[in-house]
Amino acid sequence: MLNFNTINVIFISLLIVLIGLHFFYGVPWYLFVILFVTYFSLLFYGSYNVRSNFYIKTISSADTSKMQIAISFDDGPAPNYTPHILEILKYHNVQAAFFCIGKRIDENESLLQRIYDDGHIIGNHSYSHDLWFDLFSAGKMAEDLKKMNRAMKKVIGMEPRLFRPPYGVTNPNLKKAIQRGGYTPVGWSIRSMDTVIKDAGKLLEKVTISLKPGAVVLFHDTSKSTLDILPEFIDYAREKGYSFIRLDKLLNLEPYA
Ligand SMILES: [Zn+2]
Repeated sequence: MLNFNTINVIFISLLIVLIGLHFFYGVPWYLFVILFVTYFSLLFYGSYNVRSNFYIKTISSADTSKMQIAISFDDGPAPNYTPHILEILKYHNVQAAFFCIGKRIDENESLLQRIYDDGHIIGNHSYSHDLWFDLFSAGKMAEDLKKMNRAMKKVIGMEPRLFRPPYGVTNPNLKKAIQRGGYTPVGWSIRSMDTVIKDAGKLLEKVTISLKPGAVVLFHDTSKSTLDILPEFIDYAREKGYSFIRLDKLLNLEPYA
């Protein structure tokens, strides 16, 4: 499997060969351009695909033939939608994972407590979810993640062990921050795109079309369209024979430190 280290070794080897060929045989300069463009395209692909395991191994689904799936919600707790989502989950007896943003916990402590009391698990999705988070130094990232831990510990008395990268972006600095904080990085296998898809029908189709055993579905509890389709999605999956299992149990992970 291609990862950051392998790509670097291949890139440097090819660069040395190319410099040699250029020096002795005068190979054209555009081959250097092709090499650099390919290299940076691969880095870009690795950064923006949480499932690529390019920089760090991320657990994104379960390798199982059992008809079990898990659902997860990012970016809350959000007072406008999270309470409704909790009601739907309770009514349908589904336990989920909520990857929360620390600064939103500070503003909605009782809502976080309710998520926990309802039997869901809470993971770290950074404190700031800053637009430029991916450009932070490793130290600044580590401090941001730790700050989320503190916000959560203040409310439920425990710190998260599971971490989901903001925007699903990974890079070498984030790898260091994850390792420093002892987190287990968790991705997803089905991205609902519910922050973009506003049409309920299209969203339902997007999440149901690729359902398979062991899947981890990514929703946002900040999305109105997710709220709209959630009951139907749960019914659909159950009709197809799937059962909902909490993410930590599906992936066999310890949720808290
Ligand atoms: Zn997010």
